[in-house]
Amino acid sequence: MKKLEGKIAVVTGGSRGIGAAIAKELGREGATVVINYNHSQVHAQAVVEEINSTGSTAIAIQADISEAEPTKLFIENVLEKFGRVDILVNNAGITRDRSFRKMSYEEWNKVIDTNLSSAFNTCKIALPSMLENKYGRIINISSVIGQSGGFGQSNYAAAKAGLVGFTKSLALETARGGVTVNAICPGFIATDMVVAMPDTVLEAIVAQIPMKKLGKPEDIAKGVIFICECEYMTGQSLNLNGGLYMM
Ligand code: NAP
Repeated sequence: MKKLEGKIAVVTGGSRGIGAAIAKELGREGATVVINYNHSQVHAQAVVEEINSTGSTAIAIQADISEAEPTKLFIENVLEKFGRVDILVNNAGITRDRSFRKMSYEEWNKVIDTNLSSAFNTCKIALPSMLENKYGRIINISSVIGQSGGFGQSNYAAAKAGLVGFTKSLALETARGGVTVNAICPGFIATDMVVAMPDTVLEAIVAQIPMKKLGKPEDIAKGVIFICECEYMTGQSLNLNGGLYMM
């Protein structure tokens, strides 16, 4: 029997990068996986096919999770199809880096909506079914930047730090209901988001990481499986950062 056999898992932003690795790992462990995407339909479909080819079940559903109404329809669709959500991974995220003085209101709002409000939007609809079933695993993908701050990242750092506060608060409210709420704070992971940085910036970042290498999306996916298996951990942040930031 696989670890997550019979579980229904939702991964926001599961089409690429860390989310795709999380979706595949959940599928490998036997979960039925709903992969949410916004623009990358072809990538999402490739993840679905890879999971289905291993004998697990996956489907992809488009929804812009930065907005409340499409997210509501998305999660309601999952509940209609599968009856419940057991595992919810709030992974979708974007950066719009710019120094504070130059940052526009649009860049601020887009990052807060996509990285932080999205978790409110999904949990709002998925949580009642978890509490009803007395089981749930909510995993919010935050970032080391939410802990350390980042130059030109006041929007992103605020959203990711906010996600940790959200995690702790929701954990308090759900602790007696069989639902755990935890965050993962990745360091720098080799995905589109990071490899898009100029080489010199990337080299400077790697030089600061005690392990002297970027993390892999699979490193974060393994953290998700660990949290899914943990019964007695809630309101915590799992720091997977190669030693970059030690709490
Ligand atoms: P990525 O490669 O850029 O992928 C981002 C994913 O989010 C894509 O699947 C994208 O879907 C989805 N997404 C973005 N906006 C969306 C929206 N409005 N609605 C639905 N889906 C949306 O990023 P990544 O590096 O894998 O990052 C994944 C998460 O980890 C993010 O929350 C990020 O902040 C966090 N993180 C990353 C790192 C890192 O070093 N890479 C470090 C710390 C934390 P579409 O392509 O379909 O739009």
